[in-house]
Amino acid sequence: MPARQRRAAQVLAELAHLYPDAATELNHQSPFELLIATILSAQATDISVNAATPALFARYPDAAALAQAVPEEVVSYIQRIGLYRGKAKNIVAAAQQLVAQHGGQVPDDFAALLALPGVGRKTANVVLANAFNRPAIAVDTHVGRLARRLGFSQHHHPDKVELELEALFPRERWIFLHHALILHGRRVCLARNPNCTDCALAPLCPSRV
Ligand code: SF4
Repeated sequence: MPARQRRAAQVLAELAHLYPDAATELNHQSPFELLIATILSAQATDISVNAATPALFARYPDAAALAQAVPEEVVSYIQRIGLYRGKAKNIVAAAQQLVAQHGGQVPDDFAALLALPGVGRKTANVVLANAFNRPAIAVDTHVGRLARRLGFSQHHHPDKVELELEALFPRERWIFLHHALILHGRRVCLARNPNCTDCALAPLCPSRV
């Protein structure tokens, strides 16, 4: 086994030890709620999204209800979340598209998800993985940073990082890897001050300081 692949396997084993229950931290009860929460989470914290979604989903429990809303009304539920005006327009438009093209259901299909307003590759992959248990690696800021620091990618474009991680790690572990890298990025390998001294991955990491 090439050294890079062997190191990837060792990192995966250590992550499994550190974060055995790694899962999305966005609260949701259905694919619809996960889709909306994920759109809202772009450039915002999961905490701010989780604080807003109970009231939002109580008022708009499904795509049919949200499709009838006017964005100005939706704004009042999400105004503590970053970029809320654009996101209000996007989630209403996405709900309308779900009703018009998918019978009000969230499609289990990457291209169909990608065609929804406010949905990019990261959001589509998060929904496929967490709502439908489909192997996918969503590359957000944490996953991209960790992939580079751990020496698994030199790219800054998320699509390229995604392809490199998918080539390096077994398909059945992609969903876990995504969640575990996010947790490690939030708790230890912080963007500005990585805590290498207390990092269990340090012996495997070419960026340790
Ligand atoms: S050793 Fe440092 S740079 Fe490497 S993963 Fe750990 S915290 Fe991040």
